[in-house]
Amino acid sequence: MSQADRKTDLDPADWDELRAQGHRMLDDMIDNLAGLRERPLWQAPQAEARARYRVEPPRAPQPLAEVHAQFMADIAPFGSGNRHPGFMGWVQGGGTAVGMLAEMLAGGLDANLGGRDHMPIEVERQVVAWMAKLFGFPDDASGLFMTGTSLANLCAVLIARDRALGADVRHTGVHGDVRLVAYASKGVHACILRAMDMTGLGWDRLRLIETDAQHRISLPALEAAIAADRAAGLKPFLIVGTAGSVDVGAVDDLSGLADIAGREGAAFHVDGALGALGVLSPQVAPRLKGIERADSLALDFHKLAQVPYDAGFLLVRDAAAHKRTFTYSEAAYLRHAERGLAGGAWWPCDYGPDLSRGFRALKVWMSLKTYGLDALGAVIGRTCELAQALAARIEAEPELELMAPVALDIVCFAYRGADNAAIVADLHEAGRVAPSTTTLGGRTAIRAAIVNHRTGPADIEALVDGVLALGRAQLGTSAKAGDR
Ligand SMILES: *Cc1c(COP(=O)(O)O)cnc(C)c1O
Repeated sequence: MSQADRKTDLDPADWDELRAQGHRMLDDMIDNLAGLRERPLWQAPQAEARARYRVEPPRAPQPLAEVHAQFMADIAPFGSGNRHPGFMGWVQGGGTAVGMLAEMLAGGLDANLGGRDHMPIEVERQVVAWMAKLFGFPDDASGLFMTGTSLANLCAVLIARDRALGADVRHTGVHGDVRLVAYASKGVHACILRAMDMTGLGWDRLRLIETDAQHRISLPALEAAIAADRAAGLKPFLIVGTAGSVDVGAVDDLSGLADIAGREGAAFHVDGALGALGVLSPQVAPRLKGIERADSLALDFHKLAQVPYDAGFLLVRDAAAHKRTFTYSEAAYLRHAERGLAGGAWWPCDYGPDLSRGFRALKVWMSLKTYGLDALGAVIGRTCELAQALAARIEAEPELELMAPVALDIVCFAYRGADNAAIVADLHEAGRVAPSTTTLGGRTAIRAAIVNHRTGPADIEALVDGVLALGRAQLGTSAKAGDR
């Protein structure tokens, strides 16, 4: 055998063949994206297709073209539908072509952004600096990418815990008579509860405060809860504000919360997964006033900013406190050098739980530059306008009931007297529009989160028409005279 026959690496034997195959894959995916509207939003995977994913691990090789064909047949048509303009469930972005192409570049570069001295790290730092500027944080604020706001919220609770207990808690662990207590509205995302558990503080130490008619945290109720806890010898250490609650899109009074946190010496964290990037929209930005006073802010580029999954982000006012919570430079293999590849002043692994990290920053940097902040802000403003249009249409239909005020881009409503969960499941199976459900005041609501940049007035009409038709079919009524 010649040297060439004994190929041992994983590069292609024929780069031209790989290039042709790669172009076919790119073309297929561009066609797939361009043809979104012609296909159902969602269809349940067939049993035979699922069975093809319950097989033995492959020992032998198979041509990439064949594996790609299997992807196109089995996987691509059966995605979760969030790219489709009719998708309105669970607060998800729709992705973009630019984001997809950036992912290919990042995959090709295969950079590990845990640390060391290379240009991809500079890209992440650039986005951190942009976010600091955008949110009115100091120039030396720190931040980094992570999977999503769930993890960013966890990190923020950890930073606040260490600030309250001292960095020694990293050595001793949380035990004994820890008296810390945190506050958030009862509309807070469940991941904050999980963060209390994972930081060793416990769910019971998160006070879920009553909300007002707008579903915002009640400041008098918060102050009363704090006073009661102080009287009981507990120490308020963290107040979490929500900028866009997951159920109804409510935005807490962030300035009011910042005042209270300041008075109480507690950290002020904002969960901005859903609404923080509203600062890009001139119509939405005024509602987020006070966000610039947060000690930390969690947000998701994969929601309003339409960056493909996943792209969560944490911004922290006090970079030193941030680093104190995560740095672990005692490990010899993580030592920073004065120069060479192991140099570099800023290593993300000192600021978060991950060591190996992909190049999420590239797709965000590329999306922000390619579209421009103003265009992304216009998309966000439009989703909020569509939500208002949907609310108006619901209020004009006597069979429908609007179940919560619309602050941002989430509309909760119901068909009066019908099984609304069944209506939603029927809509999913029909494949044209996909809202989700939530529970408000003990009742099931249809929840439409208008987050996708592709959603337009026709999709809003399709949702309302679909709900009306299904509700009437359920109740055995028909459209009354004068109705469409
Ligand atoms: C989506 C969301 C989260 C969770 O974010 P992930 O990116 O899914 O981890 C947290 N809080 C709010 C308000 C959200 O909308």
